[in-house]
Amino acid sequence: MDGWEEFSSQMDAYDKVIILVDENTKQHCLPYLEKKWTGQYELIEIPSGENHKNITTCQTIWNQLLELKADRHSLLVNLGGGVIGDMGGFCASTFMRGMDFIQIPTTLLSMVDASIGGKLGVDMDGFKNLIGLFKNPKAIFIDPQFLGTLPKREISSGMAEVIKHGLIADADYYEQVIKYPPALSWNELIARSIEIKKEVVEKDPLEKGFRKILNFGHTIGHAIESLNLDTDSHLLHGEAITLGMIAEAFISTRITGLSTESLEKIRKDILGDFSSRGNINLNPHKIFENCLKDKKNKNQKVLASLLSAIGKCEINVEISKKDVEEAMVYLKSTIKK
Ligand code: NAD
Repeated sequence: MDGWEEFSSQMDAYDKVIILVDENTKQHCLPYLEKKWTGQYELIEIPSGENHKNITTCQTIWNQLLELKADRHSLLVNLGGGVIGDMGGFCASTFMRGMDFIQIPTTLLSMVDASIGGKLGVDMDGFKNLIGLFKNPKAIFIDPQFLGTLPKREISSGMAEVIKHGLIADADYYEQVIKYPPALSWNELIARSIEIKKEVVEKDPLEKGFRKILNFGHTIGHAIESLNLDTDSHLLHGEAITLGMIAEAFISTRITGLSTESLEKIRKDILGDFSSRGNINLNPHKIFENCLKDKKNKNQKVLASLLSAIGKCEINVEISKKDVEEAMVYLKSTIKK
């Protein structure tokens, strides 16, 4: 049985199937899915974008689930990127105390990262993923065919999480994924990234410790993403994480012994061109304030995951306001280079 046959048999097991899409996945991904499975379904469509990943959109989804007479025995299929997956999974897990859901990630980022590991949730008051829970889907179906219609900027955003997997866990894989032209096929790249994420998550499903290595680049990256949300300099998730990884690699040279050669290499390998992204707000004071709201913190101390070498990561490292300020000076100078 191939993956799509397995998908069909799972779908057919439910009396009611509801597919959650945004306008882009409705146009580009739903027709492909309809070729793979010909059963009856209801559709819920929400607007695309991180600025809709909030409780207001959840209320729309919950209301529509009610109108469609969904119940605990129905299935929600989340067809889309990380926004649809995180929010759809959250809505399904909380509707009537939980209905089944399946993830069909359609962006690179959601294939290699967001759909794996059971983290679900939405943003609130400008803070990323503040409200949420851990729950695994019934199944995840990944098909690189969906990447054919994904804009180039979204592909680069997804590559940030792929690069992160190399940086925290596998130096050889890092060298392969930064190569251009690509050294790996989509199938190979997605498979290795999922393998790394799964190995980490299975050791620590609820992020009590080791899983925090996946947060390398995310303490400062999320702070930058939140600060620039709803502005002209709005960044995609992976773009903010790229900036966060460079900033945290800089701090790693001060605290966890990453060599300055490795920092320079990482900067050159991953920075890309941010010149068209407008005036990105990197105000150190505000970035640090946002870092203080990070879910990994304890006792009002900012705890980050930092590199000791390419392929090696340490967790629960306290970083100070001064570290963040100096990292922002470095980041600003490097974006202009
Ligand atoms: P996204 O969900 O916003 O999708 C990006 C854009 O691509 C959207 O406009 C979408 O409509 C469009 N799109 C999706 N698939 C398409 C396709 N095949 N063809 C054409 N257009 C398509 O963004 P994303 O980068 O997938 O996900 C980012 C989100 O994932 C963030 O909210 C982030 O917090 C979350 N995330 C979650 C986890 C986790 O562990 N749960 C991990 C990493 C990121």
